[in-house]
Amino acid sequence: MRIGVLAVQGAFAEHISRLALLGTEGFEIRQRKDLSAPFDGLILPGGESTAMRRLLKELDLLVPLKTMIQNGLPVFGTCAGMILLAKEISGGEAPCFGTLDITVRRNAYGRQLGSFRCREQFAGSEIEMPFIRAPYAERVGENVTVLAQHENRIIAVREGSQLAAAFHPELTDDTAVCKYFLQMVAKSPLNVV
Ligand code: GLN
Repeated sequence: MRIGVLAVQGAFAEHISRLALLGTEGFEIRQRKDLSAPFDGLILPGGESTAMRRLLKELDLLVPLKTMIQNGLPVFGTCAGMILLAKEISGGEAPCFGTLDITVRRNAYGRQLGSFRCREQFAGSEIEMPFIRAPYAERVGENVTVLAQHENRIIAVREGSQLAAAFHPELTDDTAVCKYFLQMVAKSPLNVV
C-alpha cells in the first residue's frame, strides 16, 4: 500500500512518520511528476489552506488530484486538509477541491482558543485531539457520517472514500485515526482486486 502525502506546505512530515510507524509507505507529493507512479490513498495535512490552495494551482496539482478524489481515491484531510476538501467555506471563500459535502468555518475557535487539546470519542474510541487554529463543520450533507464532536461541534466526518478531521491526530501517540484511514484504503473498491 502506498499513500501520497501532499507536501507543498504544512505538517506533512508527521503524517509520513506516522505511516512508517504503521509499516505503510508514505511519499511526498510536491510536484506533478510525483503523481506518475500509482498510489492507493492521499493525505492532505494541516497547515495554511490558503497557501496550499495557491500552491496546488501553481504546481498544476489541483485538477489531477481533484479528479482522483472524484474517482474514489481514498483521501484523509486534517485541519487545513479538511478545509481543502469542503464543498463550502463559511464567509464566501471559494472551495478548493469541493468534493466533501460539508460547510466549514475556518479559525472557528477564536484567537485565544486557537490551540487546545481535548479528549473525545472518535468512531467508538476515546482519543486525544490537538487543535491548532482549527475549523469545524457547520453543516454536513445527508450522505456524511459524523465520527466525532466536541462541545456539540462536528470535528470529524466521513463521506464514502473521504475522511476529514478538524484536529491533528498525527501529533499524538494515538494511531487510531490513521489506522481507520488505512482500513478505508484497504477496503476501497479501487484496491480490492
Ligand atoms: N487555520 C488554518 C487554515 O485556515 C488551518 C490550521 C491547521 O491546519 N492547523 O487553513
